[in-house]
Amino acid sequence: MKTANTVNEVRSIVREWKKQGLSVGLVPTMGFLHEGHASLIKRAHEENDRVVVSDFVNPTQFGPNEDLESYPRDFERDCRLSEEMGADLVFHPEPSEMYHDPHTYVTIDTLSETLCGVTRPIHFRGVCTVVSKLFNIVTPDRAYFGQKDAQQLAIIRKMVLDMNYGIEIVGCPIIREEDGLAKSSRNTYLSEEERKAALCLSRAVKKGQEVISAGCSSESVLSAMKKIIEAEPLAKIDYVSVVDALDMQPVDKVEKDVLVAMAVYIGKTRLIDNFSFEVA
Ligand code: AMP
Repeated sequence: MKTANTVNEVRSIVREWKKQGLSVGLVPTMGFLHEGHASLIKRAHEENDRVVVSDFVNPTQFGPNEDLESYPRDFERDCRLSEEMGADLVFHPEPSEMYHDPHTYVTIDTLSETLCGVTRPIHFRGVCTVVSKLFNIVTPDRAYFGQKDAQQLAIIRKMVLDMNYGIEIVGCPIIREEDGLAKSSRNTYLSEEERKAALCLSRAVKKGQEVISAGCSSESVLSAMKKIIEAEPLAKIDYVSVVDALDMQPVDKVEKDVLVAMAVYIGKTRLIDNFSFEVA
């Protein structure tokens, strides 16, 4: 497996692959890889001749008071895991390699204005910008994203359609710890007590799935889920919401496919979780 720090190195490696007619899968990550990331890399390896993992803590998707500096990093470990899962190249640029006094950003309206976009107003602009740049650098045939970040996945799908990227976007299921907590690089911030408290998110997901399957309104789904989270003293709800699966706008009645998503602070750590519900 190769590693590269510069855009030019990546371009020349990919150019060689393309000359040989090989297909390329891209897995964008911020590093500190866990089994959730591993599942994306593994899937990309199964479906493509070559796999590029990007490992970059993207500064433009963090707000001024967020955890850019403290975000966990372990490049050596990331390389080992990527190689085990079948990656061929890990792209690990410095921020200065990716951004030279930028004046151009990629923004998406409507879909970025609900859910996480309310508390994190510049987040999706940063995500769309860095993912666009990675698409232009790597020119993959397919790119892999987790359902864990469901709003991000919906936004990337729409951006690819709107901008004619011609890249297949593959959504991959949420990988959870045995006790239900969705795997996340940010779980390392949790103390032992907070780690236990964080289970209220996956418990709320489970409850929400039961209530929605019984054909209830969004309001009943939300109140059942909120009741579980509010019973946990260390938890503070940022949002719990039922939105249209495509445009991310809140819905009262579950008549079309929906996303039920939440962000919850456990102490100072903001965690997200969600489930999708398809109307038969
Ligand atoms: P991140 O490094 O947090 O930016 O995540 C990189 C990619 O891995 C994104 O597409 C995430 O949705 C995906 N991902 C993160 N956690 C999980 C998980 N628990 N299960 C599946 N995919 C995940």
